[in-house]
Amino acid sequence: DLAHPPEMAELREKLAYWRQDHPVARPTLMADLEGEKIEVHAPQSGKVVGHQIMATERDLDLAMSRAVAAQPMWDALGGQERAALLIKASDLLEENMPRFMDLCRREAGKTMMDGVLEVREAVDFLRYYACEARMLFGAPQPLPGPTGEQNLLRLHGRGVFATISPWNFPLAIFMGPAAAALAAGNTVLAKPAEQTPLIAALAIDLCHEAGIPKDVLQLVPGDGKVGAALTSDPRITGVAFTGSTNTAHAINRSLAARDGAIGTLIAETGGMNAMIVDSSALPEQVTRDVVASAFQSAGQRCSALRVLYLQEDVADEMLEMIKGAFKALVIGDPANLETDVGPVIDAEAREKLQDHVAEMIEDGFPVWRRSMPTECEHGNFFSPTIVEIGSILDLDEEQFGPILHICRFPAGSMGKVLDDINATGYGLTLGLHSRIDETRHFVEARAKVGNFYVNRNQIGAVVGSQPFGGEGLSGTGPKAGGPHYVTRFATERVTTIDTTA
Ligand code: NAD
Repeated sequence: DLAHPPEMAELREKLAYWRQDHPVARPTLMADLEGEKIEVHAPQSGKVVGHQIMATERDLDLAMSRAVAAQPMWDALGGQERAALLIKASDLLEENMPRFMDLCRREAGKTMMDGVLEVREAVDFLRYYACEARMLFGAPQPLPGPTGEQNLLRLHGRGVFATISPWNFPLAIFMGPAAAALAAGNTVLAKPAEQTPLIAALAIDLCHEAGIPKDVLQLVPGDGKVGAALTSDPRITGVAFTGSTNTAHAINRSLAARDGAIGTLIAETGGMNAMIVDSSALPEQVTRDVVASAFQSAGQRCSALRVLYLQEDVADEMLEMIKGAFKALVIGDPANLETDVGPVIDAEAREKLQDHVAEMIEDGFPVWRRSMPTECEHGNFFSPTIVEIGSILDLDEEQFGPILHICRFPAGSMGKVLDDINATGYGLTLGLHSRIDETRHFVEARAKVGNFYVNRNQIGAVVGSQPFGGEGLSGTGPKAGGPHYVTRFATERVTTIDTTA
């Protein structure tokens, strides 16, 4: 039972202290900055949670100079030492789990369970990339060559990385790419989403407390303009970006337009994720997994289910069961342990979802919506919605919230369903519920997605065992939390020695 694991009771007690409307101290890092002071609001209530300072051009220039100057020292430190600091940082993050959970709720509207998962994932990223640093950035690797010649391959950091992150995983995806870049010997300018700067600032403070030098990892708070200024600076050697596909395109253009070194872009972007259910699937299992995949985290996961394909002969029965579970979802304050669906991040996100549903109604598609509890009237809540459409191609873009689209397909037309899913150009997650092995093999061979989930929900990625990431419009790869990720942040250098001389 994901919503009520045993440790929640203990965490709840620890949180009591933080819940007394404890003011969130402005992290020291932001005190150094010069820019405009902006309020940060809680999505569920609109209350002010704290303030952030937007980095100015001068702040960016200073941070960049420091990062450039510190990089050779950090690179020369070697994988073992860098790993030790990352492990220490992971321990501090773990010790501060209740503080992060509280901030995740207040700043990002996350439920308590999502807060726990968020911290665990961030800690896992730090530890996994620390192990990679130890394994990959130690002694040089000897390569074969002719007699009388020695060839040695070494991995080094590329230089200065900008890590630009979204609000929906304000700790895990803020820390993950930064940790990988650091593990590889880069210095990092870390820009959090403008909606969630306080979580990021606390994480950076703890990394410094762990001993990662201040010039090696710097917080650059600000909005998209600050992000754009970062990526257009020729001193940045690479960008690790997670966010929308449109922003990834903008960053790509910005990197290409600069003079000087060719920048690396590692992008993890949006998805148009489908699940296919055939008549051999178990209805109870399907219902549980569909509801978790579409509505958990208020549908604000890049992996979330957007379009469910039901085989026609079982569609009515499945749909009835899904609607039953949908009616039982608890919508409300993320502080309540019972809450299944909290708010969406801000008014802009809510309005975008509302516009989409209005358009679907206007186009004549059947729509079912949950009524909203009165306590939700003042926050950015969006009522969970189911829309029946003809095909995934009826949708233009990712809808980032608790909206599930349903399509029916006749038996024997799974090939056409897969062609339509592939035709969207997105390739992040795909789910399949079927007990027929041939069907799984057929889908596995044709689907162009990064993560394929069979007979389970399609959200969640466990660092080290389920590396996560997409292809096409969903990202460049390699997968976060996988064995090929850290090396993308590194450059290879080969030394060739004539040993006969
Ligand atoms: P977003 O693209 O609006 O913003 C992401 C970050 O980019 C923010 O820090 C923002 O300030 C910055 N930014 C905006 N414009 C910029 C520019 N021109 N140059 C540089 N930086 C700029 O995305 P979001 O709304 O914060 O996040 C939601 C999106 O993220 C969804 O599309 C979701 O699918 C995607 N996402 C993908 C993954 C994945 O692993 N594939 C994970 C989480 C979220």
